[in-house]
Amino acid sequence: MTTVESDIASPFTEEEEYARQSVRAFLDRELEPHLEKFIGDPEVDREFWRKAGRAGILGVGIPEEYGGPGGSDLFGVIVAYELGRSVGGTVVGSSITADAGATHVLMTGGSVEHKRRWAPGIMSGEITQAFAVTEPDAGSDVMAIRTRAVRDGDDYVINGSKIFISNANKADLIYVAAKTDPTQRGRGMSMFIVEGTTPGLSRRRMQTMGYPAYDLAELYFDDMRVPAENLLVGEGQAMGLMMSTFALDRLEMAARALGEAELAFELALEHVRNREVFGQKILDFQNTQFALADMKTEIEVGRSFVNDGIRKYRAGRFTMTDGAMLKVWVPEMTSRVVDRALQMFGGSGFIDEMPISRLYRGSRVHRLYAGATEIQKVTIAREL
Ligand SMILES: Cc1cc2nc3c(=O)[nH]c(=O)nc-3n(C[C@H](O)[C@H](O)[C@H](O)COP(=O)(O)OP(=O)(O)OC[C@H]3O[C@@H](n4cnc5c(N)ncnc54)[C@H](O)[C@@H]3O)c2cc1C
Repeated sequence: MTTVESDIASPFTEEEEYARQSVRAFLDRELEPHLEKFIGDPEVDREFWRKAGRAGILGVGIPEEYGGPGGSDLFGVIVAYELGRSVGGTVVGSSITADAGATHVLMTGGSVEHKRRWAPGIMSGEITQAFAVTEPDAGSDVMAIRTRAVRDGDDYVINGSKIFISNANKADLIYVAAKTDPTQRGRGMSMFIVEGTTPGLSRRRMQTMGYPAYDLAELYFDDMRVPAENLLVGEGQAMGLMMSTFALDRLEMAARALGEAELAFELALEHVRNREVFGQKILDFQNTQFALADMKTEIEVGRSFVNDGIRKYRAGRFTMTDGAMLKVWVPEMTSRVVDRALQMFGGSGFIDEMPISRLYRGSRVHRLYAGATEIQKVTIAREL
């Protein structure tokens, strides 16, 4: 496959660039050759996480005092970008990108005891995590959640449910947002660590439109008892904890979408170079050349935007508005590029197992989850 020359590495330090190459090598070795095995076999996914642990790419943000490498926050952006660029990403979905954000929640909101207890398993891939906020009646309106946590002696008793939670079929630790004060909106929300074996927790796997091996689940809490020491930060503090993850999360998602646009371009270029119609390569039609020129230009604009976000983040100047603008523009650019790429495949672009078809379906999610495009626009407009 032809590779688009990438300079996303340019805003990275030498150490981060080395990490990016390690992630690339890991995906080439442990994901790309085994794609079909991931579909319908959760054990393959589990083993993939353990391999990622052995390769040293999980829990990178864990500080040295808890046995971690104390690596850059930007590592999650690197993983998201590289997974976006890989054909394997079109199968597994968010996969190991779920690690950085969730680990950040534990490292920011957890006690010393929590961090000591769970950091080793997170780094080895034995413990995987999920971050559960969305409910059937509360997605964009996060503060409308109804899951209820009531203090009872040394425990909280949690009742309610969550929906569309990434990595949640296998997660051993789930950070669950619940109302401790239902009379309040944001200020009534608290966050709890729920261990996967807790009685009263049940899960249902959800099938997704794209990324056929995506680990997505619905969760149910039925009189689920959680020790009071599993409360993160403090009662009513969940919104602050969540907000601390949002900006970096948006940057990661933009990097993922950028990687997917590049992949779509590469797949299309390879196809039009080889496929002949009317006695000539599809690439030889000027219409194809103009479409490719537009796609490449859009990708480069997106890359500059993402790179600028990375530089701002490093300088401590990356705002929620910067994150929102990236989360709007880059996924929309990706949708345009992927759609044009698929067109060049003709009927084969419509075939389920084709990477371009999987990319077309999968990449659509970036405009929906973690704050739909319209919610990001609300954030941008509020600043104005
Ligand atoms: C694959 C996937 C993975 C996910 N992973 C997680 C996870 O790990 N953890 C988690 O907690 N959640 C997760 N989610 C949930 C996701 O964040 C929500 O789906 C998303 O926030 C939108 O909420 P909703 O689905 O309830 O849509 P709704 O809130 O019902 O909104 C539907 C649509 O209405 C429009 N809309 C909403 N509000 C406004 C407004 N103010 N102005 C204008 N238009 C508006 C938008 O177009 C929006 O798409 C995931 C979702 C998916 C699909």
